[in-house]
Amino acid sequence: MTKPRAYLDWNADAPLCEAARQAMLRVWELGALNPSSAHAGGQKARAIIEEARHSMARLLGCASEEIIFTAGGTEADNMAVRGAPVERFIVSFMEHPAVMKPAKASGKPVTLLEVDGDGKADPEALERHLSVGGGRALVCLMFASNESGTLQPVREAVEIARRHGALVLCDAVQGAGKVELNFADLGVDMLAISAHKFGGPQGVGALIVREGLALEPLVLGGGQERRRRAGTENVAGIAGMAAALETALEGWQEKKKRIRVLRNDLETGLKAIAPEVVIFAERAPRMVNTTWFAHPRLDAQAALMAFDLDGVAISAGSACHSGKAEVPRSLIAMGVDRDLAKRALRVSLGPDTTEDDIRLFLSSWQAQVERMNRNAA
Ligand code: PLP
Repeated sequence: MTKPRAYLDWNADAPLCEAARQAMLRVWELGALNPSSAHAGGQKARAIIEEARHSMARLLGCASEEIIFTAGGTEADNMAVRGAPVERFIVSFMEHPAVMKPAKASGKPVTLLEVDGDGKADPEALERHLSVGGGRALVCLMFASNESGTLQPVREAVEIARRHGALVLCDAVQGAGKVELNFADLGVDMLAISAHKFGGPQGVGALIVREGLALEPLVLGGGQERRRRAGTENVAGIAGMAAALETALEGWQEKKKRIRVLRNDLETGLKAIAPEVVIFAERAPRMVNTTWFAHPRLDAQAALMAFDLDGVAISAGSACHSGKAEVPRSLIAMGVDRDLAKRALRVSLGPDTTEDDIRLFLSSWQAQVERMNRNAA
């Protein structure tokens, strides 16, 4: 696959890290067999899975038994939403379709939780929605937005939910491996993660489910994952995910500091070249790697293509999944004008991002803005 010269789309996918690649190769070279088999080949595979589970539990602050391996973040979210013992949903406007769509498809009432101009969910509105009767609710609040990077008030939501006997699902697909995250401290009932967002392979993830919570399984079949998720486990993928998480969290504070400096340089440069640029959630507590912005006169799809031609990979709109131009509904919920919202571009950095990547991004940006100004003259 041709590699971009500057990869700045880490919220869509964090490239496979070397530790994950090695861990997966080891599993394949070993020829791991079905982990449910009683023979030695099967038991070797079982040991690999349990070692990965143990390591991830230590890194994520949960018990090993609380981890259910899945085929990615979408499945983990679906499992939580469709299997939770609740009568209704309160879903923040910023949630990913992997949460929003199964909630809406459930046939149960769904209340959308308002967000402020920075995309941060409103705890007072949550209190209000929970105070209205209607049965036990599942509150769905992501850890950090994949679009704006805004960190959500998850602990506060948990406190409010507890007072009303509600459950909380935290989609931490954009938090795990990037920020400090501890399941026990957070206090949520369920937490979803996905390996390919922190340097592991695609199609592997996990749902962490608080011990004692009775969750209906989504996938029925064999008795794997203590009867909570049927299907022969993806042994290499799980080993790769555990190795990637360990690597991602090694020295994460240093990585975070470095990424913050690069992101600040990028934002300073963006605005110096085009002062009309709007950076969404600019002043909000947000992930240090994400910049979501729009220029009032620059078409997002054209910009995306121009960046691509210059070897810079970024995203337009909310599309880490659609590949087509849409107005991000989260920006509308944040009160952003529709015309500006449809011009949104997202840049997301990672631990391998360099100063050269930022320089290349800014030189492409400068050329695009100059072209646009010349054409308008
Ligand atoms: N939730 C969030 C916040 C995401 O950003 C994504 C990724 O696109 C998902 C869920 C879906 O995860 P996956 O790609 O592993 O299915």
